[in-house]
Amino acid sequence: MWVVFGIKDKIIYLFELDIQECPYCGNMDNTLLSVRFSYAYVWVLPLFLTARQYFITCSVCKQHIITLNNKIIDKKLKSPIPWIYKFGWVIPVGLIFSCLIPTVLDSIGML
Ligand SMILES: [Zn+2]
Repeated sequence: MWVVFGIKDKIIYLFELDIQECPYCGNMDNTLLSVRFSYAYVWVLPLFLTARQYFITCSVCKQHIITLNNKIIDKKLKSPIPWIYKFGWVIPVGLIFSCLIPTVLDSIGML
């Protein structure tokens, strides 16, 4: 059986912040609040998060200007990462259990 699994990185740009000079490209432009996270996956299904970090990012060159404290941002934003990247493991576990329940009920004489 051919199973592809591993860890991928993804960046989500959440929203624009104040105008600030970028120390990398020198542009005066809006900065972006962004979150970069890593998640484990099987085939195309995300399973769970392995890491996350919030940044203030330059909107021109996309360099991370400032690294932010995860706990403070999580409290303010109530987890902006889509649930599938955190709890995707529920889907295969649910499918396995839904296949096992009839077998278990049959074996104990409930069906
Ligand atoms: Zn820049």
